[in-house]
Amino acid sequence: MSETKFCQSCGMPLDSKDVCGTNQDGSINEEYCIYCYKDGAFVDDCTMDEMIEGSVRHMKESGMLKEQNKTEEEAREFMYSFFPELKRWK
Ligand SMILES: [Zn+2]
Repeated sequence: MSETKFCQSCGMPLDSKDVCGTNQDGSINEEYCIYCYKDGAFVDDCTMDEMIEGSVRHMKESGMLKEQNKTEEEAREFMYSFFPELKRWK
């Protein structure tokens, strides 16, 4: 992949084919990650708010917030600034 793409559902960088979602025919889907999109369908049928809350929780539990020196509120605010631009939530 030439340029870094972001999952159009959760915003995570799709920097390798290993994290890309898959289409129904098993081919690589370069718009969504494997955690969001598998075999041609979304893994979780959730709203944007639920997705953001889940991501914030994940960042907190994995220590990513500390790593990036962010508070929960800052992370949430950041996600609300770009999630509405993602294809799935438009
Ligand atoms: Zn995703």
